[in-house]
Amino acid sequence: MATMITMPKLGLTMTEGTVLEWKKNEGDPLKKGEVVLVVATEKLTYEVEAPDDGLLLRIAVKAGETVPVGAILGAIGEKGEEPDLGAAGVEEVPPAEKEAASEREQERPTGALKGTEPVPAKGDTGKRVVVIGGGPGGYVAAIRAAQLGGNVTLVEKESLGGTCVNVGCIPTKALLHSAEVNRTVEDAAEAGLKVGSLEIQWDVVQERKNQVVKQLSQGVKALLTANGVEVVTGKASFIDDRNILVRSMEGDRKIESDAVIVATGSEASLPPIPGVDLDGVVTSTGALSFHEIPSRMVIIGGGVIGVEFASIYADFGCNVTIIEMLPQILPGADGEAVSALSKVLEARGITIHTGAKVGSIEAAGSSLVISADLSGREEKIEADKVLVAVGRKPFTEGLNLEAAGIRTERDRISVDKSMRTSVPHIFAVGDCCSPIMLAHVAMMEGEVAAGNIFGLDEKMDYSTTPGCVYTSPELAWAGLTEEEAKKRGHKVRKGVFPMIGNAKSLISGETRGMVKIVADEKYGEILGVHIVGARATDLISEASLAIRLEATLDEVVETIHGHPTFCEATREAALACLGRAIHSIPRA
Ligand SMILES: Cc1cc2nc3c(=O)[nH]c(=O)nc-3n(C[C@H](O)[C@H](O)[C@H](O)COP(=O)(O)OP(=O)(O)OC[C@H]3O[C@@H](n4cnc5c(N)ncnc54)[C@H](O)[C@@H]3O)c2cc1C
Repeated sequence: MATMITMPKLGLTMTEGTVLEWKKNEGDPLKKGEVVLVVATEKLTYEVEAPDDGLLLRIAVKAGETVPVGAILGAIGEKGEEPDLGAAGVEEVPPAEKEAASEREQERPTGALKGTEPVPAKGDTGKRVVVIGGGPGGYVAAIRAAQLGGNVTLVEKESLGGTCVNVGCIPTKALLHSAEVNRTVEDAAEAGLKVGSLEIQWDVVQERKNQVVKQLSQGVKALLTANGVEVVTGKASFIDDRNILVRSMEGDRKIESDAVIVATGSEASLPPIPGVDLDGVVTSTGALSFHEIPSRMVIIGGGVIGVEFASIYADFGCNVTIIEMLPQILPGADGEAVSALSKVLEARGITIHTGAKVGSIEAAGSSLVISADLSGREEKIEADKVLVAVGRKPFTEGLNLEAAGIRTERDRISVDKSMRTSVPHIFAVGDCCSPIMLAHVAMMEGEVAAGNIFGLDEKMDYSTTPGCVYTSPELAWAGLTEEEAKKRGHKVRKGVFPMIGNAKSLISGETRGMVKIVADEKYGEILGVHIVGARATDLISEASLAIRLEATLDEVVETIHGHPTFCEATREAALACLGRAIHSIPRA
């Protein structure tokens, strides 16, 4: 009986493929495994091999034709045989996969290779674009709009760089760097270095942090100026959907626009806990600028911001307690990865209470007393400082959104995947509207919004967003957690590789942590990667790209990684998924 050659399924979301070229003609003899034809999907070309020995009896799909996965492309059999080309059915693609594939299709930019569109000279389109807010969402949008030929004005009420540069990503990481240097010096003896007594000069640590912030904020200003963006200092609000009022010390100014991008960011949420307004109770902004390192600190909220501050102050010798209401810190991150990180943090002296709730904060002399329900046990904890880090909410105060007819939902500006608001020529980006409040997401949204103002038809795809937690060691992830993958109906294949088996980790004295890969059992497509360890926040980009390209385990395995590097651990985790990790002891 004839054997059919069918359109292979080369990825989880592939629904159809195109025949590029037949390497054989009808009547040609074939050996099993010999290349018969080449097919193409939207992301790769693939050589299809003969499934059997025989003659190529029939070519059913000509070069250039596109057919669904599973469709018969040709038949192999013996001379004189009449193949039944209706024999094989088109593979039924599950509705969820079809939907995912069609969503990805829509998200893909149309037209020429993205980023190579002809760029008009500055101001050439004559389109007047006003950007409100100079954080990562706003300044990136402004630069991109200027690159595309807009006449761009950016309005900022405080400091360029927004939360990220002034009181967020950058100052926290500057403090973290000093804390890490402190710990490295403490551990220097292990590396064979004897150093004299170590003294933390907190005022110098603070000064360095402020200097880094200043330099980056000035850098943002320089980039905007170099791109021809006019920067206006003042508080902006809508007069109507085309006109913006800017209030400043110099007086009021009206700016007319053809398109507007709102990028006004977010502010810290404060829970209604009695005592939350006491002296010594601070949000993240206050925790950046303590006059001295507190000796005892309670952090309410075990999200990314709370856990990062816990790691920083613990490295400076502070006694830190985290109180988190949910069953795990870092909600949303992979359970196994969080448990690995928690163990390291606890070993460094950080106390973590999950499933716990703070009832009140009271002043007692120079201390604060926090009353909390710790899984059914009422306890009082004393501290010098309390950091409230229970989340952030969109900031749109004073914008007068109603005057422009911009719709909001629970204070968040409503946008579609093009970052367009309910008013077609007004866009919003970043924390004021985004489902994910992160600087790198805000930046990408800024580029997408600006592109759409100039007709590029771009859409946001959040599926590869890396989550980065800058603790010591770091935690980073991209894609689905094991829990999410199972919930979505995937049959999961997972592999875990401990950092202790990675040569670079051992050399660097950073053996804590692991890489975990969550893949789909059927095709080995990588669904999620979760890394705990040194440089995890850098290593995660390989995972984001792999997920973006719908890479499979064997594609990661077949990619040679440098040696010795931390990133070899990612390849080993892919090998572990396939049951063949080289650098870990096999379990019986
Ligand atoms: C402590 C902390 C640490 C963080 N660490 C990280 C991290 O490591 N990585 C990460 O990706 N994210 C981090 N974030 C989150 C990140 O800072 C935000 O997601 C990011 O700044 C959002 O960018 P944005 O442009 O939307 O808003 P913002 O950065 O908040 O900028 C908004 C700007 O708009 C201005 N503005 C507001 N209203 C008006 C108005 N009416 N007129 C004129 N100007 C106005 C504000 O003054 C502000 O400058 C951190 C946040 C905090 C608080």
